[in-house]
This record gives sequence, C-alpha cells and structure tokens, in this order.
Amino acid sequence: MTAIDAHTAHNYAPLPVVLAHGDGAWVTDVDGRRYLDALAGYSALNFGHRHPRLVAAARAQLDRLTLTSRAFHHDGFAAFTRELAALCGKDAVLPMNTGAEAVETAIKAARRHGHLVRGIPEDQARIIVAAGNFHGRTTTIVSFSTDPDARTGYGPFTPGFDVVPYGDLDALEAAIGPQTCAVLLEPIQGEAGVLIPPTGYLTGVRERCDANGVLLLADEIQSGLARTGRTFACDHEQVVPDVYILGKALGGGIVPLSAIVADRAVMDVFTPGSHGSTFGGNPLACAVGVEVVRMLAEGSWQRRAARLGARLADGLATLPEGALDAVRVRGLWAGIDVAGGRGGREVCEALYARGVLAKDTHGSTIRLAPPLVVTDDEVDLIVSVLGEVLVPGGAQRVRSLAAVGQAGVGRSG
Ligand SMILES: *Cc1c(COP(=O)(O)O)cnc(C)c1O
Repeated sequence: MTAIDAHTAHNYAPLPVVLAHGDGAWVTDVDGRRYLDALAGYSALNFGHRHPRLVAAARAQLDRLTLTSRAFHHDGFAAFTRELAALCGKDAVLPMNTGAEAVETAIKAARRHGHLVRGIPEDQARIIVAAGNFHGRTTTIVSFSTDPDARTGYGPFTPGFDVVPYGDLDALEAAIGPQTCAVLLEPIQGEAGVLIPPTGYLTGVRERCDANGVLLLADEIQSGLARTGRTFACDHEQVVPDVYILGKALGGGIVPLSAIVADRAVMDVFTPGSHGSTFGGNPLACAVGVEVVRMLAEGSWQRRAARLGARLADGLATLPEGALDAVRVRGLWAGIDVAGGRGGREVCEALYARGVLAKDTHGSTIRLAPPLVVTDDEVDLIVSVLGEVLVPGGAQRVRSLAAVGQAGVGRSG
C-alpha cells in the first residue's frame, strides 16, 4: 500500500487519521471510528459538518447555476452583498475566496486609500501589523509574519510593513507616521494561541487610528462570525473597524468564501479592472454565504457560543492545578498552554487516541474550537478527555465516548 502522503507536498504534518464522514460536531474515519471534532477546520466549520440548512442551500444552487465569473451579474449576488453588509453595519462587500485573498484585498484597499484619498506619496504607504500575527500564506502576507517557519526562504519580501508588539498601545502609537495608511490586526490572535489583548487595547487602537486618519483593518477570519460569543471579536469592546476581513465560516464549511466589508469611502477606491477574482462571489458561494449571514442575523449562534464557552471555561478551571500553565477562553475558543514542557503535538496525539481531534498551534499550546453545534455533554467530554490526557488517572468524570456520542449528537440553531 502506498503511503497516503506519497504524492503530496509535505507542507502539513496531519494527525494519522483518515476521515471519511462528518456530521455536526462528529467525524468518522475510514475504519468507522468516531471522533469529536474540537478544531472545526480552524473555525471554518462553526456550524458543524454538513449543517442541513447550508447543505440544502448549496444543493438547490447546484441544480441551477454555479459559476458565472464577475463579467456578468447573477441573481444571488445582490442579496449576499446586501445582507452581509447589513450584518457588519457597513455599505459594501467585496467577495473573494480564501482568507489570504481577503487580507490582500484589504491591504490593497488601504494602500490605495492612503495614496489616492489621503495624499500619501505613491509607493510610500505603510501598514502597521502585530508581532505573532497570522494573516495567511501569500508572499506579501508572509513578508510581515514574525514566524520563521512561515517566512524562511521566501524572500525577497514585500516592503511597507511595520511590526509592533501585540497588545502594546504605546508601541503602536510610536509607529504611526505620516505615511501610515492602516493598522492591520487580529482582534484575538488565533494561530498565536488564542491570545486575547489587554482590555482597552482595541478601543485604544481605534482612538489612535482616528486621531491620525489611519484605517483600522480587523482580520476577523478566525475570530468572527459567532466564534467568540459575539458576531465579531471587535464587538467585545464595541470597536468598529474601517474594514472587516472575513473568511473561514463565511463559506459554511462547504465552499471557500471570503470578503472585505467596508463603507463606500474605502470601498470606492476600487474601480473596474483594479482588482478581481474569477471565483470571487460565485453563485454557489453566494448561496451558502447568504444562508450563513441569515443564520448569524438571528443571534442564536452568538448566544450559544457564549453559553458553551462559559461552560468550557468552567470545565477547564476544574482541571488540577499544575496541568496547565495558562488558559485563555473567549466564547467557544480556547488556547491552552500545557505544563511540564509537554509538546502540544504529543497532547493532540493523546487526545486523538481517545477520540477527540484538536490541533497544537506552537510549542506547548493547543487550541480548542469545536463547532458551535456541540452540546453541553460534548463540551464536558472534551474537558474530561483533556483531563485524562494531562493528568493520567486524574479525570473525575470520564465518560464513555460512545455513550456521549450516541446520546449527545444533536444540532441546534
Ligand atoms: C486562516 C486565517 C487566514 C488565512 O485564511 P486562508 O483561507 O487559509 O487563506 C487569515 N487570517 C486569519 C486570522 C486566519 O485565521
């Protein structure tokens, strides 16, 4: 038998599980073994695997029209852009496909706005970013990454970015100069380990941006769309960025769909021919995307994430002292630094052996981001399995995975 990775680039090191089926918060491998998915496609699966409402929308569209290119209008485009703009409280949407493309689009919008609207001399516009950022994998985006794994060997890099420590308002203020056109931030740094900035940081960044005519670009690709218990992570400080950058869950776990959302003053820097994408805003993606927006407009997913997240935080707090160095939870999203110098990868392998799929981020940090369809029992299950792995023999309420899996699989929302 040929190894499963014999004909692929080795740019990932997956857990040794081969999945064949997914339903809600659960996936099944080729041998019929079931796992609770505590990663949810890095939040691309906020609504779980194959949510019936989203699958129905995709199916109906598949039978009608799937791709037009933007050379022509299609009949699902206006509703998707109107309703997503309304969800964000903004005027307009520019759809792309992957998250990295949406970040690139936001960078282009900010640079053009700087040059054409604010009068920054051509080719001089600069963007402030945060150390530890993750905004995607294009050559320009890795140009301002601080992660050697993401950068090494990929130069020459795109100039025009200034990196400041995340969470440090004074450093950000000091970095703002006459050529600064934008600040690009994750309101919570996901890949860095679910790092939540100090309270008041986002508000402070907004104030500094306003005082200097600088745009605030919020990368909500992983943090947005209900994950943190609010529609956007920025909502926790009532901060409204100039540009929302969205992706991942916007495609409902079915299709790649990303977007930037902004008011006309920013969006109108784009003119015909100045930017585009063959697949951006295609009929199939819009059909799924508008259904995602309608689900979020009801508010129940956000409330569910907040409630389950509080349960997850309470559960993690019961784990014996000494098992964890730090826990950061916002909504149904947790970054956990495991103690004792244990590698995050090793912990994820042990979780996998017990039927829970999760992913390490860096070193000894693991991230938990189960689909928002998980039940209370399933949240408790994640905590107890984690307890079993971190404190062998120490988990108080370990339940049979199969029992919870059968009794607990359900959907809501
Ligand atoms: C995943 C992610 C991206 C990149 O999205 P892709 O679809 O993988 O290109 C950008 N920013 C953040 C915050 C992300 O989590």
